[in-house]
Amino acid sequence: MGFSGFVDLPVIDCHVHLGTMRGTPTGESLREQGKTLVEVIRRGHLKQMYTSGGYAGLRLKAEYPDLFYAGGPIPRLQREHAEKAKVDWEEYIRGLVDAGFDGIGEVVSKPAPREGRVPLDSPHYEGFWSTCEKLGYTVLCHVADPEEFWDEGLIPKWAKDKGWGYYVGGYPTKGELYREMENVLDRHPGLKIVLCHFYFMSADLEGASDFLARYENAHFDLSLGIELMYNISRRRDDWRDFFIRHQDRILFGTDIGVSKTLQQHLDRIWLIRKFLESDDEFHTPQSADPLLTRYEEPYVGLKLPKAALENIYAKNFQRLWGEKARKVDLTLKREPSITELTRKA
Ligand SMILES: [Zn+2]
Repeated sequence: MGFSGFVDLPVIDCHVHLGTMRGTPTGESLREQGKTLVEVIRRGHLKQMYTSGGYAGLRLKAEYPDLFYAGGPIPRLQREHAEKAKVDWEEYIRGLVDAGFDGIGEVVSKPAPREGRVPLDSPHYEGFWSTCEKLGYTVLCHVADPEEFWDEGLIPKWAKDKGWGYYVGGYPTKGELYREMENVLDRHPGLKIVLCHFYFMSADLEGASDFLARYENAHFDLSLGIELMYNISRRRDDWRDFFIRHQDRILFGTDIGVSKTLQQHLDRIWLIRKFLESDDEFHTPQSADPLLTRYEEPYVGLKLPKAALENIYAKNFQRLWGEKARKVDLTLKREPSITELTRKA
C-alpha cells in the first residue's frame, strides 16, 4: 500500500520538529528544511503541519502560509534559574499570539535528573498554564517516556545509546511525571492539551480510558514511539474499540524531524496511516529511522471507519488549533532570551 492507496482525506500532522531540540535553524539551513518539509507534505499527502521549532516555524509559515501552523516556544529553565525568575507568562504568551503562533509547540517533560529539573506543576509554570487556559491556547506536551526506559533489562539499545535509561539514581519515576501533569490538569480543567506519543499509555488501555474520562480537555497524539503501535497490536480489537470511542481525542502526529531524511519522514507518515487504515500485519520498513524499533511480532492495523479517520486526521486538530493558521507578524520575530524574560524579577 503506497500513499495513493490511503483514503482521500485531509491529514494534518500536529507534531513536526524544525532543527534540533537545542538549535533553531536560520538562513540556508531553514530554507533547506522548509523545502524538504514541503516535499514531505506533497509526497506524503498531507494538508498541513504544525511545527515545534520556535521562531523558525514562524518564518516558515510566513513563506508558506497555507501549509504550516507554528507552535510557540516555551523556555525551559534549570532549577537554579527558575527559582529566581519571575516570568510574566501572560505578557510572554500574548506576545506569541501577536507574532502569529497558533499555540504552544512541544513542551518537553522527559525524565531528567531531579536536582536540575523544574516540574511542570511547580509555581514557576503556574502563570503559563493559567494563561494558556484563559486564552484557549492549545499546548502540545511530551510527558515521560516508554516504561521500558526505566528498566535496564528492557530498554532498546538505541534508547540506551541516547542516554535515555532512567534506572540509575536521581530520575523521577513515570508515576511522578504523571502526577505532575495531572496536578496541572486538576488545577486547569479548561486547559486544551495534546499529549505526545499517546501519553506513553499504550501498554495500559484501562489507564488510558480512565485518564481521558477524568480529563475532558486532554488528547493524545500518535507520534511514534513505535512501541505504541506494537502495544496496541497486541490487544488490537480492544484498542480498535477505544479508538472509535475516543476518536475526538486522538490526533495524527509523526515527530518528523527526529527522523532525518525525506524517506524517513515519509516512512513515519506511512506507518501510522497503514496502522489506522488497513487490517494488515506489517513491520517497520527497513528504510525507516533507527528510533523505530524493529520487532519480531508484526503490527496489526486497526482499519478504522472513515468518520474516525476524519477526526483523527484533521478535525480534532482544527477544533483545537483553528481552521486557519494565524497571520504572521514578522516584525515580532525575535526569540526572547532568558535574561529578557526574567529581567522584571
Ligand atoms: Zn516531538
